[in-house]
Amino acid sequence: MERINVTSPLLPQLENFQPYLEDIWNRKWLTNNGHYHQELEKALCEYLKIDYISLYTNGTLPLITALQALRITGEVITTPYSFCATTHSIWWNGIKPVFVDIDPKTCNLDPEKIEAAITPRTTAIMPVHCYGIPCDVEAIEEIANKYGLSVIYDAAHAFGVEYKGRSILNYGDMSTLSFHATKVYNTVEGGALVTHDAKTKKRIDFLKNFGFADEVTIVAPGINGKMDEIRSAYGLVNLKQVDEAIILRKKIVETYCDGLNNIAGIRHLDYSNKNIKHNYAYFPIFIDKEKYGISRDELYEKLKENNIYGRRYFYPLISNMTTYKGYDSAHPDNLPIANKLADEVLCLPIYKDLKLSEVEKIVSLIKGFRN
Ligand SMILES: *Cc1c(COP(=O)(O)O)cnc(C)c1O
Repeated sequence: MERINVTSPLLPQLENFQPYLEDIWNRKWLTNNGHYHQELEKALCEYLKIDYISLYTNGTLPLITALQALRITGEVITTPYSFCATTHSIWWNGIKPVFVDIDPKTCNLDPEKIEAAITPRTTAIMPVHCYGIPCDVEAIEEIANKYGLSVIYDAAHAFGVEYKGRSILNYGDMSTLSFHATKVYNTVEGGALVTHDAKTKKRIDFLKNFGFADEVTIVAPGINGKMDEIRSAYGLVNLKQVDEAIILRKKIVETYCDGLNNIAGIRHLDYSNKNIKHNYAYFPIFIDKEKYGISRDELYEKLKENNIYGRRYFYPLISNMTTYKGYDSAHPDNLPIANKLADEVLCLPIYKDLKLSEVEKIVSLIKGFRN
């Protein structure tokens, strides 16, 4: 079998992209809130059913600017079970991350454990909709309201996800997206910050452009986070096929679930909640060595021998990384579930062009490795 990676980027049709490039060449306006930048913001608001979005050059700078815009200080409660950019954004703001354990059913922050981590220095919560599975947004909102905390969702995985008929991006004070090549929807590199009112969007747009309010007025120490015209146009073309890609991802997930359901020691996430419109961003499985017979790492290696390249998202845990492991909250005793899942997880290949016959082949390999 040819090499199969965990993902493969969703690429726009070249012939559809070319006219946009010619138009950009004619306009000679390459960045700074250009024509296609504005078009993509409009198209994304419509597609995602949100009111305000600010485009970025990647998915990490919106996290950093969201903390700046809300003037978050002191301590921020977050999950250790994520891509390291989540905690890095807190650290880059000179804020102390405080790790709270996750719920094994969703892999998201466990709201029941949040209150115990709140101190007088806590100003915000930064949860992640891990794998695109929504957090318990209602419980988190209740805690945030009770203690007067801001909530910034890292929704890098949650493009197009809905909860109770509303975009998941409508929850919290702000949500961030990543349009990196590996995500469900990409602009090569890219990202966005979703806000809920015009005044906040305006401030975000200043902050992502060095703080410029006009030619001579610099209102804040902003950063350069702007998305350029080429990637904005690429994003417009790619947006046209994302629905189809999500339908194909759903079929892949169903095929994996059907095939893996009766293998002892292999668990997958639950996709049956009717309140959730999923985007099928990842397909993680969790390997219980006692029941399955071999460990996650052994399975990972054996699949690689067969040219199947899964990824151990999220291992290592952020709380075990050099920069963060010294914090009290990073101690493994405080994060037993996250540590367990980081040792058990393997994300299997999933992308639009992965054939169902290939999914079945992967399933039969996993069955065959049982011990
Ligand atoms: C991908 C990702 C990011 C960062 O996005 P970039 O676009 O790569 O900067 C942030 N958080 C999570 C959870 C991610 O998966």
